[in-house]
Amino acid sequence: MTVEPRIRNGICMTAHPKGCALAVQKEIDYVKSQPKFNGAKKVLVVGGSTGYGLSSRISLAFGSGAGTLNISFEKEGSEKRPATPGFYNNRAFDEKAKAEGLIAESINADAFSHETRKIAIERIKELFGKVDMIVYSLASPVRPDPDTGELYKSCLKPLGETYTAKSVNPEKGTVTEVSIEPADESEIAPTVKVMGGEDWMLWIKALKEADVLEDGFKSIAYSYIGPELTMAVYRKGTIGKAKEHLEATAKEITEFTKDINGQAWVSVNKALVTRSSSVIPVVPLYISLLFKIMKEKEIHEGCIEQMQRMFVQKIYNGSTAIVDEEGRLRLDDLEMRDDVQAEVEKRWDSITSDTLSEMTDIETYKSDFLKLHGFGFDEIDYTEDVDFL
Ligand code: NAD
Repeated sequence: MTVEPRIRNGICMTAHPKGCALAVQKEIDYVKSQPKFNGAKKVLVVGGSTGYGLSSRISLAFGSGAGTLNISFEKEGSEKRPATPGFYNNRAFDEKAKAEGLIAESINADAFSHETRKIAIERIKELFGKVDMIVYSLASPVRPDPDTGELYKSCLKPLGETYTAKSVNPEKGTVTEVSIEPADESEIAPTVKVMGGEDWMLWIKALKEADVLEDGFKSIAYSYIGPELTMAVYRKGTIGKAKEHLEATAKEITEFTKDINGQAWVSVNKALVTRSSSVIPVVPLYISLLFKIMKEKEIHEGCIEQMQRMFVQKIYNGSTAIVDEEGRLRLDDLEMRDDVQAEVEKRWDSITSDTLSEMTDIETYKSDFLKLHGFGFDEIDYTEDVDFL
């Protein structure tokens, strides 16, 4: 069968197996074009099938020669329906890494459950004995409590007052004003429960208890701060509360594992097109403008360039990790540069449906979004039948 992109409300429901494999290959090629580095060798990636987690996995495997075990939750394909992109990405990654003699496995399971932790720990013992890096890169709208089964839902809302700003519909190419009502108190705690650090800590506790953490192990999770423009809906909104919790958890993990010299950080990354960021109001329009400005200044990066720079320059740089005054790694340093943000502010007001393509890099936004699902690659003949299994 053939498959085309089917997009509903910023979510693409289909994926192309060969296109996903090509996207993985392109990230591998980038890492291989860079000097090797001496980083982690035995890595657990929680949420390594797409976005920042996948790029972290590729950078550590192909840049530092690491064996990697990945946990992600994917829908498999059927004769008639494609799998999720992460399913095809995992398969492609595992094949390509194994072909180079690297340990590479993926477990398809709910990372929030204790059962998955048990399975992962058994596999870690068999594959590596112990791990020296845990990348924690989950992004999910929901999380079942692993003890009670109660389902918590996160939301993306401002706090205190209604937030009104411009937003883009990339498919229609229209810019409209959106208003988001503030969250009520009862919506904050569930968002923190889903996207905060509780589950990250549960992973570390389970790994420590099972004695599969190497002395001096490191762990990293990802956060975002962003500009004034998105502050109300992101950093000062419900998700910001969760990110504050995640950042506090990094310190707790370092403290909790100090007897084995563990170190955990949060890295504040650049805003990029991923399956998660595409559903945040206002953010896709901001990203489209940001891309245009960062490309003009020749400082644009994608997920793989960000993760490679993080490992090589900020973590495994032969000295101590480079952190800000809050102990966070800052990969958003270029995005947040004064000259970049001054341009964002200067140009934001002039963006309308009519000026969208001239004022922003909406084309790259759309093309990056399609590529996340394996579509839009010149190298692939999309009229050819593909096997979804
Ligand atoms: P993504 O959607 O591309 O990746 C999320 C990963 O989590 C996928 O591998 C998915 O399979 C996995 N996952 C979700 N629920 C799961 C579950 N129950 N069990 C197992 N796996 C599950 O998202 P992303 O943008 O790469 O986000 C990763 C992290 O980076 C998040 O913490 C996000 O807030 C942060 N971040 C993203 C951006 C951005 O602009 N995209 C910027 C800064 C920080």
